[in-house]
Amino acid sequence: MENILLLVHTEADGSLAKSALESLQTAQSLAGALGGSFSVAIVGEKTGAAANQIASCGAAKFLSVEGADFAQSRYASDAAAAEALCKAAAATVVIAPATSRWNRVLAGVAARLNGRVETHVTDVRAENCQVAVTRWYYRQRMEAVLSRTQRPWFLLVDPGSQPAWEGAAGTATVEAVAVSLGDACKRTTVTGLRAPSADAQTIRPDADLLFVTGAGWTKKQADGQTHVPEAETLIRDFLTHTRASLGSSKSLVDLGGEGQAVISFLTHLNQIGQTGSTPRHPKGLSTCCHGEEPHAVGWRFIKERRAISLDANCGWARGKADVLYVADAFAVMTKVNELVAAK
Ligand SMILES: Cc1cc2nc3c(=O)[nH]c(=O)nc-3n(C[C@H](O)[C@H](O)[C@H](O)COP(=O)(O)OP(=O)(O)OC[C@H]3O[C@@H](n4cnc5c(N)ncnc54)[C@H](O)[C@@H]3O)c2cc1C
Repeated sequence: MENILLLVHTEADGSLAKSALESLQTAQSLAGALGGSFSVAIVGEKTGAAANQIASCGAAKFLSVEGADFAQSRYASDAAAAEALCKAAAATVVIAPATSRWNRVLAGVAARLNGRVETHVTDVRAENCQVAVTRWYYRQRMEAVLSRTQRPWFLLVDPGSQPAWEGAAGTATVEAVAVSLGDACKRTTVTGLRAPSADAQTIRPDADLLFVTGAGWTKKQADGQTHVPEAETLIRDFLTHTRASLGSSKSLVDLGGEGQAVISFLTHLNQIGQTGSTPRHPKGLSTCCHGEEPHAVGWRFIKERRAISLDANCGWARGKADVLYVADAFAVMTKVNELVAAK
C-alpha cells in the first residue's frame, strides 16, 4: 500500500494557493482510487490557517514544519523541511504543486531520499492498483504515461492541469515536525522579495483569458503610419480591466532586438509557441497575429480560441481558431475596452 503525502507550502498570507488545492484534489483522488488514505504536510511561517482551510479534505493526518525560517523560499531550509516531512510520513508517493518554490527543491530532496522525481505531471491515477503518471517531455511536445518501482516518488503537478479541491474549512489537528537548521542552512539570508508591481506583472497563469499580441500592432496601418503608442494604451487598458494574462508572438518580442518600436512591457517571457511557453487558460484572444504553426502550437491547451486579424487567410482561419474576426484590432479593441470599462 502506498503512503501518499500531499506536500504544500503556504503563501505570504498563510493560505494555500489554487495550485496547492489542485494537488490536494490529485492526492485525494489517487488515494480513493487505490483504496487507501493520504496525509498532508505543510511548510510555512504559520501553517494552522492553511490546515484549517482544508480541514475537511479527509486526510489521515496533518503534519507541519513551521517558523520564521520557513516563511520564505530558500533552498536549504525548504529542502530540510521537505525531507523531514517525507520521513515523518514514511511517504512513498509525494504529490506537490509545481510552484517555483517546490520546483527548485524537490529534485534535490528526491536525491537525498534515494527516490525519483517527475516534473510537468498533468495526471496521476491508479491503473491495475499501480500509480500511473502522465507527464510531458521536450517543452510539452511529447506526452508519456509511466510508472516506477523506486520510492519515494515525487510528482510535481503542473498548475492548471487539475481541478482545484473544493470543501469546507474547519479545525485541523496538526502534528508539528521539528527541523533544526544548522549554520550551513542559514548561509543564505533572505533579505526581502523584489517583484514587479501587480500592473507590471503581465503573466498571470491563473487568469481566465490569455490575450496575445502580434507584430501587426507595430506595422503600418491603413493611414500609412505606425501607431505603437496607441497600441500600448489599448493593450494596457484591456489588461487592467480584465486582468488577462499577456502573451505574444515571437516576431513582436524579437522586434526590440532589431531596434524597432515595440510594446514596452513585453519581454521574451511573454512569448507563446514552439520556442516559447504553452500556457493553460480556458480562453484565448489573439490580436494582430498571423497564427502560424510555430506560434499556434503554444495554444495547445487553450480551450476556446478567438483571433482578430485583417487577413482572412491567416493561420487562424485554417482551423486553429474557433472564431476569427476579420477586422481591424485597433477598432475592435477600442470598442471592447469601452464595454469592459463600462462593466
Ligand atoms: C524554429 C521556429 C520557431 C518559432 N517559434 C515561435 C514561437 O515560439 N512563437 C511564435 O510566436 N513564433 C515562433 N516562430 C515564428 C513564427 O513562425 C512566425 O514568424 C511568428 O509567429 C509571426 O508573428 P506575427 O503573427 O505576430 O507576425 P506577422 O506574421 O507579421 O503577422 C502580423 C499579422 O497582423 C495582422 N495585422 C496587422 N495590422 C492589423 C490590424 N490593425 N488588425 C488586425 N490584424 C492586423 C496582419 O494581417 C498579420 O496577419 C518560430 C519560427 C521558427 C522558424
